[in-house]
Amino acid sequence: MEGGCHCGAVRFTATGAPDWVGACYCIDCRKISGSPYTVFAQFKKSDVQIKGTPKEYQSSEKVIRSFCENCSSPFAYSYIDSRDQLFIPVGVFDDASSFAPKNHIFVSQKLPWVIVDTDAPQEK
Ligand SMILES: [Zn+2]
Ligand SMILES: [Zn+2]
Repeated sequence: MEGGCHCGAVRFTATGAPDWVGACYCIDCRKISGSPYTVFAQFKKSDVQIKGTPKEYQSSEKVIRSFCENCSSPFAYSYIDSRDQLFIPVGVFDDASSFAPKNHIFVSQKLPWVIVDTDAPQEK
């Protein structure tokens, strides 16, 4: 699966299927993306080849986010204590059609007009 930022300075190839695909409704994801929620696909960092150098930003005590310094497209978030896992927003893949979210997290921070499939597992 190939992807990259809007301007092309950051490109990546992710190999294999993601370990997890989920939508996050937290306020941090909302602020950073400018969108009501973000769907992420989780890959092991060792399964992702990156061209270019995403800039890093620590968005909270436990989370580092990275993005293209030129065009501001997000690249990934990872937890400071498990940097070997990358959560890549599915919108930066060239073809995100197979990445339907199966999990929904931080639903308590969801905007009231966002409709969530309540049969899916959820975090309080
Ligand atoms: Zn870019
Ligand atoms: Zn979030």
